Amino acid sequence: DLARFSQVSEVEWRVEPVGGMRVPAVIFADAGLIREMDDKVLEQLTNVATLPGIVEAAYAMPDAHWGYGFPIGGVAAFDADEGGVVSAGGVGFDISCGVRTLHTGLTAAEVEPRKQRLADHLFAHVPAGVGSTGQLRLNANEMDAMLRGGARWAVERGYGSAADLERIEEHGCMSGAEPGEVSEHAKRRQRDEIGTLGSGNHYLELQEIAEIYDSQAADRLRLRVGEVVVSIHCGSRGLGHQIGTEFLRQMVVAAPGFGIELPDRELACAPIKSPLGQAYLGAMRAAINCALANRQVITHLAREVFADVFPGTHLGLIYDVSHNTCKLEPHTVDGRTRQLYVHRKGATRAFGPRHPTLPADLRDVGQPVLIGGSMGTASYILVGTEAGRTRAFSSACHGAGRAMSRHQATRQWRGRALVDELASQGVLIRSPSLRGVAEEAPGAYKDVSAVVDAADRAGLARKVAKLKPLVCIKG
Ligand code: 5GP
Ligand code: MN
Ligand code: MN
Repeated sequence: DLARFSQVSEVEWRVEPVGGMRVPAVIFADAGLIREMDDKVLEQLTNVATLPGIVEAAYAMPDAHWGYGFPIGGVAAFDADEGGVVSAGGVGFDISCGVRTLHTGLTAAEVEPRKQRLADHLFAHVPAGVGSTGQLRLNANEMDAMLRGGARWAVERGYGSAADLERIEEHGCMSGAEPGEVSEHAKRRQRDEIGTLGSGNHYLELQEIAEIYDSQAADRLRLRVGEVVVSIHCGSRGLGHQIGTEFLRQMVVAAPGFGIELPDRELACAPIKSPLGQAYLGAMRAAINCALANRQVITHLAREVFADVFPGTHLGLIYDVSHNTCKLEPHTVDGRTRQLYVHRKGATRAFGPRHPTLPADLRDVGQPVLIGGSMGTASYILVGTEAGRTRAFSSACHGAGRAMSRHQATRQWRGRALVDELASQGVLIRSPSLRGVAEEAPGAYKDVSAVVDAADRAGLARKVAKLKPLVCIKG
């Protein structure tokens, strides 16, 4: 209901604090996206705004939709010195779910004659689907090493090269991970799931670069129209989900003891400085490493397939971003630099040019922001901007965002018909689950171009390239 907002700009909407809200709620979106946005997003955002220690505002990105407690597409930062909290629901269940994109150096014309073979080969080689297992079996020691080392652990075991690590957030290894805070159950679930896509909206996709918007940034990222890239979207599998579930339960139970009044029990959280808050952060960081290791091993599998089908190709990593995290970062608020715990749930970090964490050769470009659309529409590559520094703590959208529930989608579409229709448009879908394909119908998502344009106009990130799907291995 639009009346509740004051419109700050064409793409920024704001609700001033009322009731228990400590800060405003801010949504970045154009008028069309706001009108179609689930009412729950604003309700959840105003609830987030009541949490102790929240700084500046509770933000929602243009792809936002209803989520567990926090909206998906939500960003909120907390100051530990002001009673700030960490929330398992503010990170999301698929901890460190994210996207990485790789060059192939091949043109779409070169790929076309072997597209079918690539699709079949990738589908056979990269495990996908509910409960899928990989080639690796981790014993207790290796599990802990993986949870501490992330993608670096994978590289040390022969999955990829040191050059990959430069193109991953945290250089492929999240510090502060505490495998000891991860339950045996969570570890057991993960024992043989490294190197697997999982189910639902996770994918490995071949995409053709269809359009360039910023030729300078595209040159620096070596993106050329007509070339093919590989994108991998997945997260921390059973381990992340188990950690989220267990800590959420503990936070619900503990909240009254912390004197935290929750407008919604799904917002369960713990003070950052409490033992429970610290335990969660240690476990969550271990799950971040699990996701980074997972995407690194899947990359290796994709490289094996390409080496077979196109001998001599090298899949060089463009970048790897996570979109379900809580990270400690310095941010300047009202002229003062503070260390903040930034929750991004279904939101991508989008550091602008010259940020010290960027690899040297991307420092003047800004951090790549990798955004999925759907298996039948466009995806996008953006970069972080200077202006973003003061907008939602350098964050941007993470996808198109769902426009309807999975259940609604299965009533409207049939998997087989979708696969056939997309094939007729030149997009090959391979999936173990036709029901899953129906749940993920392109029509079940918002208009990704509108979402990305809103993010660009709001200065959250800048559009660099548009990608169109050729092959999609769907979980
Ligand atoms: P989430 O992380 O919230 O699960 O999903 C991120 C985004 O990925 C979704 O909002 C959606 O726009 C996008 N997405 C889902 N399925 C596909 C797919 O098969 N291909 C591409 N390119 N994007 C997808
Ligand atoms: Mn995920
Ligand atoms: Mn995701």
